[in-house]
Amino acid sequence: AKQAYVDRNPKSFSRHQDACVAMPGGNTRTTLHNSPFPLTVVRGEGCRLWDADGHEYIDVLGEYTAGIYGHSHPVIRAAIDKALDHGWNFGGRNENEGKLAKLIADRMPSIDLVRFTNSGTEGNVMALAGARVFAQRKGRTRATKVMVFHGGYHGGVLYFVSGGSPVNMPYEYVVAPYNDIEGTKALLAKHGEELFAVLLEPMQGSHGCLPGDVDFLKAVREETRARGITMIFDEVMTSRLSPGGLQARHGVIPDMTTLGKYIGGGMSFGAFGGKREIMELFDPTKPDALPHAGTFNNNALTMAAGVAGYGEVYTAEAAKTLNDRGDSIRERLNAICRKAGVAFQFSGIGSMMTAHATARPIKTAADIASSNQDVKELFFFDMSAAGIWIARRGFVALNVMIGDAEGDRFVAAVEEFVSARKALLQA
Ligand code: PMP
Repeated sequence: AKQAYVDRNPKSFSRHQDACVAMPGGNTRTTLHNSPFPLTVVRGEGCRLWDADGHEYIDVLGEYTAGIYGHSHPVIRAAIDKALDHGWNFGGRNENEGKLAKLIADRMPSIDLVRFTNSGTEGNVMALAGARVFAQRKGRTRATKVMVFHGGYHGGVLYFVSGGSPVNMPYEYVVAPYNDIEGTKALLAKHGEELFAVLLEPMQGSHGCLPGDVDFLKAVREETRARGITMIFDEVMTSRLSPGGLQARHGVIPDMTTLGKYIGGGMSFGAFGGKREIMELFDPTKPDALPHAGTFNNNALTMAAGVAGYGEVYTAEAAKTLNDRGDSIRERLNAICRKAGVAFQFSGIGSMMTAHATARPIKTAADIASSNQDVKELFFFDMSAAGIWIARRGFVALNVMIGDAEGDRFVAAVEEFVSARKALLQA
């Protein structure tokens, strides 16, 4: 399968070699590194992509959730065109930032006030900074640590998917076991006084679409409230899973929430928001206000695309439609796997899912680790040959341009994979 990929993609190979001249490994975004080389995309339209060698793909990756609007969505396109007509580096406030903030505050239960950043990573960095100062000003001066969870991903400098990372922010971390109520409670009992924040995804995305059990999330909510620790939901990916994010769907409301990805209409975006009492720390009219600057925080193209996308396209109704489609596709895929009796399955919620080559139900990090990596790699190469654009790690995030026909094609490609590779897919 790998050799076929090499043979099919000579132009992408040559683009990769060109990129290696001035970038380490030809890469500026580690997620997109693929062995033997990543494909170069030259065009996208609707829910389709074309690579440098002229192959057409149905895009089920959806830019790791940032591409919820598909490619060149007419409403977003019109908003960006209009913004371009008016110029875009003002060194001043623009007309859309307040509108986007209001749309977000109206929909996300935990957000009274919000501020924008350029990426989800930055949103998390700022949320932690705010939570830390909040604890200090409340007199919790010993609280200098942050609890995160094994498998969590909060950006390039807050990476806990395979343990930790040498480039992580220099906080002291307490790494707790995700979905393990007793284990987490024990760590909170031990370190509670030292913790200013608990940062977690209500469904771990990069780790393999591992949904947080509602009871687990509720337990974290109760424990953090009782101890005066700021609970931060990283909904950079999961905010799409209901009109008010996964927090609204589960009825678990954190103190702060971080956002990113699609909410900027596909332009660079991030945000952090939460309770008035915490976010007012950043109010520049207040004494001792915390600084939060950033040249591109209110970038005119992002703000315009964001208002059009979140306000007009990804409405509450559209969120329901897209997530229902995701649930239906995932159920069909899992029915195919069950019927064939193979150790292959898809976890996730709504429009987000990940393939796993294991028969174990996906509940913990150990279940995810039991996945057969060779089979997952084969799945990626087979999907690529079948014209399905998917992440190397088997991640899928549907976009609103995908219709029944494209959904059917994706399901058919997986069915073909399961039947052609059945012998390799045994538990
Ligand atoms: N948090 C989560 C849950 C994410 O999935 C990501 C990106 N994959 C980030 C934060 C970081 O966002 P960005 O890439 O925009 O910095």
